[in-house]
Amino acid sequence: MRTPVIDVAIVGAGPYGLSLAAHALDAGLDVRIFGRPMHAWERHMPRGMLLKSEPDASHLSDPARRYGLDAFHRHSYGDPVPVETFAAYGNWFRTRAVGGALEESEVTAVGLEDGLFALTLTSGEFVPARTAVLALGFLPFAHRPGSLAALPPEVSTHSSDHREPSAFAGRDVTVVGAGQSALETATLLAEAGASVRILARTGTLAWNDVPAEHRSMMSRIRAPRSALGSGWPSVAWSRLPGAVRYLPEAARSHIVRTTLGPAGSWWLRERFDRAVTVALATRLMAAEHRDGVRLHLRDATGTGTTVDTEHVIAATGYRVDVARIGILREDLRGAVASSGASPRLTRAFETSVPGLHLVGLAAAPTFGPAMRFVCGCHFAARRVTRELVNRLRGPSRTATKHI
Ligand SMILES: Cc1cc2nc3c(=O)[nH]c(=O)nc-3n(C[C@H](O)[C@H](O)[C@H](O)COP(=O)(O)OP(=O)(O)OC[C@H]3O[C@@H](n4cnc5c(N)ncnc54)[C@H](O)[C@@H]3O)c2cc1C
Repeated sequence: MRTPVIDVAIVGAGPYGLSLAAHALDAGLDVRIFGRPMHAWERHMPRGMLLKSEPDASHLSDPARRYGLDAFHRHSYGDPVPVETFAAYGNWFRTRAVGGALEESEVTAVGLEDGLFALTLTSGEFVPARTAVLALGFLPFAHRPGSLAALPPEVSTHSSDHREPSAFAGRDVTVVGAGQSALETATLLAEAGASVRILARTGTLAWNDVPAEHRSMMSRIRAPRSALGSGWPSVAWSRLPGAVRYLPEAARSHIVRTTLGPAGSWWLRERFDRAVTVALATRLMAAEHRDGVRLHLRDATGTGTTVDTEHVIAATGYRVDVARIGILREDLRGAVASSGASPRLTRAFETSVPGLHLVGLAAAPTFGPAMRFVCGCHFAARRVTRELVNRLRGPSRTATKHI
């Protein structure tokens, strides 16, 4: 079967892919988007999770701004959004802003053939496209500490591998990490009947403050609120991701690491304290698979201890690495220029391969912390769409080809 060449193939139907599709369709481009809508939120986050971002920082983006979260879900001040509500919102957004351009098919490979991107779908279909945008989200970049590498998946997993906290009821589980994902996973597992301890290198766990509904003028001037939290730096990183790109690499990487760094949400603290055992200032040195897992630990004084547990979950975050974008065929992946492991991107999110764009977490080393969160999808969708329109609808547009 000869499949018509399309303008834009978007891989991934999370907040970034869906928002970009909405903008690109509105601009009159011939778009197909591939992936199960909100799959990562429906399958790779724990049932019962609440969003850490405020509702106002959790809008998907369409050009007319008709389909923001508040058009779907009414919320009261300070009420966190349940993950189930947010996933349903993404599906609602898809129906209204993306419609039939979405195909719930996974893309197994992306290569280059005759100057076009060639996508292979699980159905076996080949889709030729003039441009491709990878909106793959966080799943390809799940990071596990090397000390857990030798353990088999029955006893050692990543926090993104789990949907059902109740699967651990009655078991002894150790969660490694100190960020929201670690603290919330631990709490949900414990509330579902597991016996849970947290292991963290830090000496104290950080918790966010309860946001005050009414603030004085002075406090609003001193620390204005933004989608990335309070304070002028957060305002800058959330409102000016385009400017972040011009900062030196070391500064960008510092900002990405430290903005909204590991800390638990204010609404989680009491539940966590009630349910979870904590070992702080503790380093995980090694792990052995026995009848369960034996963890070798070292405390702040350098003293070694061991802990036996049935299962260990690495809630140790995500690290962008071009080498882990497995769907890119090797030659294409090799052509994506990087700084260290991070892709180098133009101001329009384009890699060094003309027409190949990366949005979402993969763009955070370039555009800063907003790209780690839903709040960055408006900027990314607009920028990429403008570039695609210029490229595809400009005077040099190539004629439609078939392969
Ligand atoms: C536990 C957890 C909690 C979070 N909480 C918040 C929060 O409260 N607020 C916030 O703003 N951000 C939060 N984040 C960050 C959040 O992941 C991003 O904001 C958001 O998901 C970015 O959207 P995205 O479209 O880039 O990625 P994703 O939502 O991950 O979407 C990418 C999609 O691409 C799909 N995909 C990947 N490969 C393929 C393929 N080959 N073919 C087809 N489809 C593919 C995936 O299945 C996935 O559905 C959280 C992250 C985690 C891990």
